[in-house]
Amino acid sequence: MTTVRRLAILLCGYEILRKSDSTRGRGERFVFASPISAYLLELTSGYLLVDTGVNSAILRDPALLAAYYTGRNWTPPIVQLAHELLPQLAQLGVNPQDITDVFLTHMHMDHTGNLRQFQHASIHVQRREHEYATTAGHAPAWFDIDYDLPALRWALHDGDWTFAPGVQALATYGHTPGHQSLLVTLPETGPVVLVGDVADLAENFAEQVLPGDASDDQQALASIRRINQIVDEHGAARFLCHDPAFVHSARLAPEWYS
Ligand SMILES: [Zn+2]
Repeated sequence: MTTVRRLAILLCGYEILRKSDSTRGRGERFVFASPISAYLLELTSGYLLVDTGVNSAILRDPALLAAYYTGRNWTPPIVQLAHELLPQLAQLGVNPQDITDVFLTHMHMDHTGNLRQFQHASIHVQRREHEYATTAGHAPAWFDIDYDLPALRWALHDGDWTFAPGVQALATYGHTPGHQSLLVTLPETGPVVLVGDVADLAENFAEQVLPGDASDDQQALASIRRINQIVDEHGAARFLCHDPAFVHSARLAPEWYS
């Protein structure tokens, strides 16, 4: 029994990373373009957006660009017109106002970039992630400018929880304090796990390699193993958020997985 009708993968841009940013201790000298994914789920009850991409307004404003990227010696992400979230939603026939719920895997800047478009929606996040993100002195990959908006309506969760039949949230802490993933049951494709940033590449899951960045290494490794176990148990597919090989061979919006 599932309430999910179909799912679209939204390619929201690219980050230029060292490979070791994805695979701890592997490939410090290798640089690659890491895709940034978000997902739209069409349910019998409406639309659920999973993550929101990166804030391209920062990239177009020289002062903000310096404050958030170049001044920190960070390479700015690449967001072309085809990567912008709202036009992709429009191509799918969906207005931002149609989206009643947003699920955040976590609150790193490549997942919160378009939250300001969804101030009418419920924003589902783990309580401990929200707590960390709103505490002074958090790490720089959390961009307050994206989520420090008084009108945002937060729905805070603790541990595993169910959004609707066929949409199961999994607490997968470790990459960040309150990371969560989503097990989605599609009517034809069957079960898929939206892994978020539990780890970036297929290599991480195949060889149990830590992500480059983790708030807790032990939890991060346990979460990789948990995803692997769920994939085995359910015969599920892994939808990798940042793996170029996966994303470049996937069906992207405006196509759907049903
Ligand atoms: Zn992340």
